[in-house]
Amino acid sequence: MAVDDLKVKIGLEVHCQLTSLKTKLFCSCSADYRGDKPNTHVCPVCIGIPGTLPVVNEKAVNFAVMVASALNSKISERMVFFRKNYFYPDMPKNFQISQYDKAGGIPISVGGFLTLDGGRRVMIRRIQLEEDPGKLSYEGTIETSRYTLVDYNRAGVALVEVVTEPDLESPREARIFLEKLRSQLEHLGVFDGSLEGSMRCDANISLAEGRRVEVKNISSFKEVERALNFEVTRQGTLVGKGIRVGMETRHWDEVRRITVTLRVKEEEQDYRYFPEPDLMPIQITEEYVSKLRASMPELPESRRQRFIETYGISGQNADVLIDNKALADFFEKCVELKTNPQEASNWIVGDLIAYLHAAGIELSESKITPKHLTRILQMIDDGTISIKIAKLVLEEMMKTGATPEEIVERKGLRRISDTTYLADLVNKIFRENTQAVSDAVRDEKAVNYLVGQLMKATQGKADPELANKLIRDKLAELSK
Ligand code: ZN
Ligand code: MN
Repeated sequence: MAVDDLKVKIGLEVHCQLTSLKTKLFCSCSADYRGDKPNTHVCPVCIGIPGTLPVVNEKAVNFAVMVASALNSKISERMVFFRKNYFYPDMPKNFQISQYDKAGGIPISVGGFLTLDGGRRVMIRRIQLEEDPGKLSYEGTIETSRYTLVDYNRAGVALVEVVTEPDLESPREARIFLEKLRSQLEHLGVFDGSLEGSMRCDANISLAEGRRVEVKNISSFKEVERALNFEVTRQGTLVGKGIRVGMETRHWDEVRRITVTLRVKEEEQDYRYFPEPDLMPIQITEEYVSKLRASMPELPESRRQRFIETYGISGQNADVLIDNKALADFFEKCVELKTNPQEASNWIVGDLIAYLHAAGIELSESKITPKHLTRILQMIDDGTISIKIAKLVLEEMMKTGATPEEIVERKGLRRISDTTYLADLVNKIFRENTQAVSDAVRDEKAVNYLVGQLMKATQGKADPELANKLIRDKLAELSK
């Protein structure tokens, strides 16, 4: 079989921290630990002192049920926590309180789907609630001797884990899925994807039937796509040479941009799951679920519909905006400031996103505000600047946060509509381009060339309509 014919199958296990929770999943330690000194957000419960008892954070259950609803997943009537036993320094209790869909462990929900732009559904296997382990950092070098530090600030923070079926057909699609998932969670108000490490991902990928490789702990959407692309090439090469792909767990090395073997496993690791004896099963009634559903904020799909129907923007623009809540919010603020919606959406989806991509930053890291963009569009409308100049202003604004007026004044970008000044330039251009001038009688390209020369001489600042008129008037005058 040709390597190109191999069907790529990717499944994801995504861990999302419910960042809107103030406290951890089973104790009252603050979950807002980022940037704080190690081991300052800990208590006897989350570091597992014997004799302490966990208490479920009710809000975490609410949030997880909302996530399950948004992903069309079937919510369990009875939710049971399990102990996942393993011995590792990041988990001080030597087990993680989690859920499971085997061994009688019942997750928040099973099944469900998330719809991609083409309408195809990526099926979800289960959604579960669990606690995050602590964080290890590996310090020192071989020369100075190596050691490991443990920070339990993160230990016990609430995660919702979304497990998909192996439904994704390419690394690119895996990335799109993650972006959509992030947007769902952000619209629900339970999650802030801009916080470092708030979404982490394991991926499994197979090309040849049943030969599944797992890639562990990938930190960002971009890295997920890269790691999976590497695996497609690696596994494809093996299959092409007739070599069996080893079923194993691999680690993505972000620096070298390769995956390396972590452990070879022929069957699933045995975590000795058993019901957590310290937590009662939670009954989830229909009434409770429908109450929660009714309180849920607007989700991406209906927001998309509203953007198209209320603001009249194109479906394509709406798709792009909706996949990034920050951009969708930015757009709506522009509209509130009375910006033409279609134009605002074109600028956001076009130049603004292009700038963010090129700079490798998120909207929140740029300095632009809806007020700024609105002002730029007004300046185009009233003729102060040309579209070309507007692009320059936008870029400068995103870098410095200066107002469009400041940038236009400081850089002298105001549109030139001074007829006398421009007419002088036209005379000069005609003297220097005699060939083009004589061609212009029958060749429209030569006319455009002359207009282009005038725009060039004014660094793009000449009023384009006026520039056109002056060139054509001058040509008409000559041919008399
Ligand atoms: Zn605690
Ligand atoms: Mn997990």
